[in-house]
Amino acid sequence: MRIVVIGAGASGFFGAIAAAESNPNAQVTLFEAGPAVLAKVKISGGGRCNVTHACYDAAALVQHYPRGGKALRGVFTRFQPRDTVAWFTDRGVQLKTEPDGRLFPESDDSQTIIDCLTSSATMAGVKIKTQAAVKKIIRQDDGFTLVFRNDETLECDRVLLATGSSAVGHQIAKDLGHTLEQSVPSLFTFNIRDPRLTDLPGVSVPIAKLKLKGTKLEQSGPLLVTHWGLSGPAVLKLSAWGARTLHQMNYQAELNINWLPTTNPETLKDNLIKVKSQLARKTVAAQCPVMLPRRLWESLTIAAGISPEMRWSDLSKPMLNLLLQELLNGTYQISGKGVFKEEFVTCGGVNLKEVDFKTMESRICPGLYFAGEVLDIDGVTGGFNFQSAWSTGWIAGSEMVSGLTE
Ligand SMILES: Cc1cc2nc3c(=O)[nH]c(=O)nc-3n(C[C@H](O)[C@H](O)[C@H](O)COP(=O)(O)OP(=O)(O)OC[C@H]3O[C@@H](n4cnc5c(N)ncnc54)[C@H](O)[C@@H]3O)c2cc1C
Repeated sequence: MRIVVIGAGASGFFGAIAAAESNPNAQVTLFEAGPAVLAKVKISGGGRCNVTHACYDAAALVQHYPRGGKALRGVFTRFQPRDTVAWFTDRGVQLKTEPDGRLFPESDDSQTIIDCLTSSATMAGVKIKTQAAVKKIIRQDDGFTLVFRNDETLECDRVLLATGSSAVGHQIAKDLGHTLEQSVPSLFTFNIRDPRLTDLPGVSVPIAKLKLKGTKLEQSGPLLVTHWGLSGPAVLKLSAWGARTLHQMNYQAELNINWLPTTNPETLKDNLIKVKSQLARKTVAAQCPVMLPRRLWESLTIAAGISPEMRWSDLSKPMLNLLLQELLNGTYQISGKGVFKEEFVTCGGVNLKEVDFKTMESRICPGLYFAGEVLDIDGVTGGFNFQSAWSTGWIAGSEMVSGLTE
């Protein structure tokens, strides 16, 4: 049985290894368009490779996928982060869990993961061919003909399409009868030019609540001010859940920030009134009575029209209300998206209804399987994207050779 895997990324490697290891009758060949395999793994997680996330319950895990969560539910009952950890540990790679739940190789070097995957593939008998870009797949009565960019052809029995977000891979799927969901970026930072943030790059808060005005989209989490605007988990989660909406808005949107989401607004108001009499002779800007970085507090007081010399005793009621507004519901104009260098993905791809997630086989084209980012699946940052690639790759590879005898 000639098994072909197209795309030597995370999902293609897992698929090829699972196929070769679970059925010795399968001759598995992995074709990669680029000069090197696992290029994204190499640069992933800032060169450390955030392999997966310490979330070991399938129902909780699927909550981290803005697209594809429902389809992945069954997949994760069969191959989830615990299995990923075991897979790598069995092959001699120890993973460590960081306080926020992200797992990395103990070496802190993505090359450890690449070495493990390439040696596992070689040991399982997978043939790997680089600079072998497939441009077309022709369906035959008893299998497929692959056409490469150099016009060479190859016959095979079953194919796993694991081409990531590549436009060629999507076109191949479309030509074989599949519907594509539009590809748009996910996991990005927000460009915001605002005097309140200009002098604050590097300032962060442990939790802020963000709302995209005019939508139901909101997220909470750590927030970081950058030279270009805002980043941090709260922004990245919002960019993922709002990927399509923000694309439609051409990345021009109003963002409301609550810098103190864990404080009850009434309590905050009462506290500020108390502080007004307690610190009457002190300046407002210099005396921050809330859990915020001092520079951020100063900036928000200026935005509320409070001059740097103004004392608490001189703070008028309208100014106090303006300050509360800045603290709890300031409006910021998003003027574009920026790159989050540690991780980004594309949402969109092959429509999930056209794939049987028990096997990852196409419902439209029998014998064709899918895994990884080629599908309309994407997760928030933190190792969830690789996890869906490992899981779907493993199921596709195991299933596409099950029952094959020669
Ligand atoms: C900078 C960066 C950092 C990231 N860091 C993390 C992280 O730390 N943790 C995490 O969970 N996720 C991370 N991600 C996301 C993660 O890399 C992807 O979700 C994952 O790589 C998807 O795997 P895949 O196998 O589906 O696709 P890919 O890794 O994109 O692999 C697809 C492969 O197919 C090849 N290919 C495409 N078309 C053809 C063709 N026609 N013929 C032959 N070959 C073809 C491509 O060259 C590519 O090698 C990161 C992404 C980026 C861009």
